[in-house]
Amino acid sequence: MTHAIVIDKVNDHQTVEQKAVALPDLAEGDVSIKVAWSTLNYKDALAITGASPVVRSFPMVPGIDLSGIVLESRHAGFKKGDRVVLNGWGVGEKHWGGLADEARLKGDWLVKLPESISLRQAMAIGTAGYTAMLCVLALEANGVTPDKGEVVVTGAAGGVGSVATALLAAKGYRVAAVTGRTEEEDYLRSLGASSIINREELSGKARALNKERWAGAVDVVGGNVLANVISMISYGGCVAACGLAGGMDLPTSVAPFILRGVTLAGVDSVMRPTSERIEAWHRLATDLDMEKLESMTREVAFEDVIAIAPDFLAGKVRGRIVVPVDPSLN
Ligand code: NDP
Repeated sequence: MTHAIVIDKVNDHQTVEQKAVALPDLAEGDVSIKVAWSTLNYKDALAITGASPVVRSFPMVPGIDLSGIVLESRHAGFKKGDRVVLNGWGVGEKHWGGLADEARLKGDWLVKLPESISLRQAMAIGTAGYTAMLCVLALEANGVTPDKGEVVVTGAAGGVGSVATALLAAKGYRVAAVTGRTEEEDYLRSLGASSIINREELSGKARALNKERWAGAVDVVGGNVLANVISMISYGGCVAACGLAGGMDLPTSVAPFILRGVTLAGVDSVMRPTSERIEAWHRLATDLDMEKLESMTREVAFEDVIAIAPDFLAGKVRGRIVVPVDPSLN
């Protein structure tokens, strides 16, 4: 039996509770893991609240992320005692996830944690931080270097936004942080933001082209905010788009792409090939200031996970949340 958060559907009505359940004998689960830490991301909040059809089979243990220690492995790449991290692959959506004290997963989905990152730090980073790293890698791959000019991060006070701000600032970029919570200015400056932009400024209908303002962008919001950002990217710049916190639509035109050579780089973390995950985790180990990571991280007890989930959808969560499952492990 494992102690878990369990989402179920009864008569078309979603239920969620904390209880003891027997781990299913999943055919693809060739590695058993003692979960040390888990976390909450925007997608976990969608699953737990049922606000969006994230969960594809019931009953489901949510948690798209976990860090822990291998208990038993039939996979050649992992052995008992290995420190591992799991992000995505449909875990917490189609396969039982990280909000439980044990998980049975496919070894092909796991990444060995770099030595310098603790199991707790791995979850302070979580899918949000790993995705922020993928966005920075996308900007680099598209030639957006610090000397090209300021870059902009939207949803900056959230999980992806906070880590992206810290990573970019550490690499020497000047970072404009877009937020709906201007009261978080001191927090965003402490992460390395050099200027703060009120989200309102970018929320109206976008023009096809606007004054060139930024060399690159990390966008977690979508909708009008993303359309406005694209219209203000300077010649040859790039926008790494990963989120939909403000909406799924993208009311823009082809003008920025065909007249300014702007690149819209879509970033997906869920199905990312393992080699790119390993690269991202190693870059996080070298580039992310762990004191800044700690300053953006809050611990939420396992018992409080269900109650806190709606705060994500209300845009009230600052930075990252970690959930201790067996914090004695490191
Ligand atoms: P958070 O809730 O931590 O952060 C989202 C931030 O977006 C909020 O803090 C807020 O920032 C801003 N925001 C919230 N609501 C709105 C709104 N209605 N309009 C404009 N801005 C808004 O979530 P995460 O950082 O974990 O995830 C951000 C997004 O990225 C989500 O859509 C998530 O699904 C997506 N994502 C995608 C991944 C992928 O693989 N493509 C992986 C990880 C996340 P502020 O208060 O500063 O304005």
